[in-house]
Amino acid sequence: MPIRKLQSKSIWCDVCKLAYAKGHARQQTPAVWQVMSETQKHKGRVRHYCQPCANEAQLWHDGTVWTFRQQLDYALGKEAIDGMELGQL
Ligand SMILES: [Zn+2]
Repeated sequence: MPIRKLQSKSIWCDVCKLAYAKGHARQQTPAVWQVMSETQKHKGRVRHYCQPCANEAQLWHDGTVWTFRQQLDYALGKEAIDGMELGQL
């Protein structure tokens, strides 16, 4: 399962960790979601999100919601097409 809800509160949100300076309280925001990349390029890369960061990451600039699942499907689909084109050359 590439997307799972975390039960433990011992993992911090990666986005907050990057967004806030060292020592800031938000640096240690417990992550709620764990998203694992399935694409060849980033296979096995794991990112952790707290709920506000997950909401933001799934909200497109025009206000539509693009879920992690859809983002993964898109990346995988794109990769399959790229691979097909390479195979035909
Ligand atoms: Zn966060």
